[in-house]
Amino acid sequence: MAVPSRPGQRLETGIEGVLFDALPDAVLVISGAGIISQANAAADRLFGYEQHQLLGKDHRMAFADGHRRGFEQLFAGLRQSQESGHDVPAPTPFEAHGLRSDGTEFPAEVACSFLHADHSTSVVAAVRATFHREEADAGLREAMSLLSATLESTADGILVVGIDGKIAGINEQFTTMWGIPDELMATGDDAAVIDYVLGLLSNPAGFVDKVNELYAHPTAESHDVLDFLDGRTFERYSRPQRVGNAVVGRVWSFRDVTPRRRAQEQARQAMAELAEQAAQLKAMAFQDPLTGLANRKLFHDQLTEALHGKDGTAVDVLLLDLDDFKEVNDILGHHAGDQMLVEVARRLRACVRPEDTVARLGGDEFVVLLTGSTDAEAVAENIVQSLNVPVRIEGSMLRPSLSLGLSSMCEDAVAASELLRRADVAMYAAKAAGKNRFMRFQPEMMTALVQRTAMEAGLRLAVDDGGITVNFQPVVSPRLGEVTQFEALARWARGGESVPPSQFIPTAERSGLISTIGMHMMRESFLQLRAWLGGRLDRSLAVNVSSVQLGERDFADAVLCLAASCGMDPRQLVLEVTESVFLDPDAHVIRQLGSLRNAGVRVALDDFGTGYSSLGRLQDLPVDAVKIDQSFVSMIRTGAEKLPILSSMINMAHSLGLRVTAEGVETAQQAAYLTDLQCDSLQGYLFSHPEPESGLELAILRSADAIDALEGLRLRR
Ligand code: C2E
Ligand code: CA
Ligand code: CA
Repeated sequence: MAVPSRPGQRLETGIEGVLFDALPDAVLVISGAGIISQANAAADRLFGYEQHQLLGKDHRMAFADGHRRGFEQLFAGLRQSQESGHDVPAPTPFEAHGLRSDGTEFPAEVACSFLHADHSTSVVAAVRATFHREEADAGLREAMSLLSATLESTADGILVVGIDGKIAGINEQFTTMWGIPDELMATGDDAAVIDYVLGLLSNPAGFVDKVNELYAHPTAESHDVLDFLDGRTFERYSRPQRVGNAVVGRVWSFRDVTPRRRAQEQARQAMAELAEQAAQLKAMAFQDPLTGLANRKLFHDQLTEALHGKDGTAVDVLLLDLDDFKEVNDILGHHAGDQMLVEVARRLRACVRPEDTVARLGGDEFVVLLTGSTDAEAVAENIVQSLNVPVRIEGSMLRPSLSLGLSSMCEDAVAASELLRRADVAMYAAKAAGKNRFMRFQPEMMTALVQRTAMEAGLRLAVDDGGITVNFQPVVSPRLGEVTQFEALARWARGGESVPPSQFIPTAERSGLISTIGMHMMRESFLQLRAWLGGRLDRSLAVNVSSVQLGERDFADAVLCLAASCGMDPRQLVLEVTESVFLDPDAHVIRQLGSLRNAGVRVALDDFGTGYSSLGRLQDLPVDAVKIDQSFVSMIRTGAEKLPILSSMINMAHSLGLRVTAEGVETAQQAAYLTDLQCDSLQGYLFSHPEPESGLELAILRSADAIDALEGLRLRR
């Protein structure tokens, strides 16, 4: 395009003029002296002038003060080259602020070129307003500041690594979280930074593997958790950094989730503890705490379930009760009793299959439930055998024994309660038949149960109607050669048939009737024997006293009152008690015996040698005499045998200042043997059976005869 060279001349005609005015950019032609020589229509519009108004004016009128450095440099360069004769360097675009005719400014970009004509050089300046770009730039700047503010305020640590592996950017939080020293960061040594970072992790190799894997797959996104040596935990996210479609790096963001992790861990632990406690509570609801066996509730549930199970499956209930367990508790204490129960539980479990139920119903009562057993009786027999093996508990050798009742499901017994009741009846029968055995339920046993109930009713009537009478059995002194004592023994003739005390005394004890019977026995004895006693202190009356009576609050007072009212000296009274009475933890019983002894009443230990206590305990007992049980006396058969147990029993009692009576003496040999051992008194059928008051005289005579015979025998030996 030819450009007119004369200043002030407007290109108004010709194609050049049309083109010049059609250019979208404002174009000014400025002389070396800075005067505008040409301006196109776009320039007029941009700067806000009428046609020609710009021509001949200094270009500075169109550009704002302070924004003309680009032009100044350009003209300075132009002048320099003219002076030096060198070529002017190609001008670079610059920014300037245009100044409109109304004084307003606008940002603009100016691109210049030189126009050499007529030996002078002009500047052609194309001026383009850049508001739109400014706006975009402002948007960009705002976005950038928003981004950096976000990056700096986020709790996440962010690291951007270029595709070349160099760190392209990090935020403040990143260095804080990782604790990277500023000096290290400042070195720009990326390898050192990475080494430092790896040194903090509990599994640096795993992290390196992960990183390598991600670099092998630049577009992959990944997420995992990093554990630190100091116990912290970071969540890690990594995603590619893209520009357009190209992956230019990778953005790593890290979040410290340690508190959350700890909270989660605590919550998890709390849940686990809760679950465990719930399980324990559940177990406790169905478990006997002492033995760990099932409890009554669980047993009932299992039994009910078994009874509703498959038809034809055998269901057997084995109810068992330890024999004389009360004595273990009384004599050795509750702790020993507990150990015994635990041992019994252990043995029971060992006797059955794991799927069978063994439960403790309470006290010394246990129950076993067998389902699908082919031979319940064999299991029952095995239980009886296994239980009856000695065990050492707190220094004492004990031999547990039990009575077991067995009942099995059959057509007419399907209710759980009925099965259990039958087992109970059978167990009772096993006890009555001598303990340490099992018995299977038989319908006749129900009759026995009914009889027992009937017995109690009958006994009650007998007590009211004076049906309980007293028999006396003499006790002789071989040394004095005469009867020195009578033992009162209760008798009950029921409808003309005599019921042995071994049957009705336990019924009386269970029903509480024993107190009435006991006082009745004492009153009758005092009255009937008064004449024989005659106030002589070398004669006495022995009365059996049950532990139930001793447990009563005013027993001692009642006895002493009764003795006084019957004109009986308490020193003529001997109370026979069994061993278990003394070792009952109830101090009340001991106090009762104490006040009786203070009043002169003597206490004899009945059935000596049969209880759980050893001979060695004798010195601790508040007694005045012992009665050696018949079972020891019956060991004397020919009178020639050696029975050290008998001599040591007698010697020990004597050394403790106790008088010794031997019970159940039936033969002269036994009497002679015991007399030789210095036994103080003898009692038994050899001298006399127990007799009513009317037979006392005869009993005394017979006893005298027997004593004479004994003397004769001893003299002959
Ligand atoms: P126990 O106190 O040991 O009485 C001795 C038992 O042995 C009596 O039996 C007596 O008849 C029996 N007996 C005496 N000599 C001989 C003998 O030579 N051979 C044999 N085989 N037995 C002999 P009983 O009268 O049947 O009394 C049994 C048990 O009943 C008594 O044993 C006693 O524990 C209890 N009992 C009797 N009467 C009373 C009472 O009034 N109150 C209390 N609490 N218990 C009583
Ligand atoms: Ca007795
Ligand atoms: Ca006895």
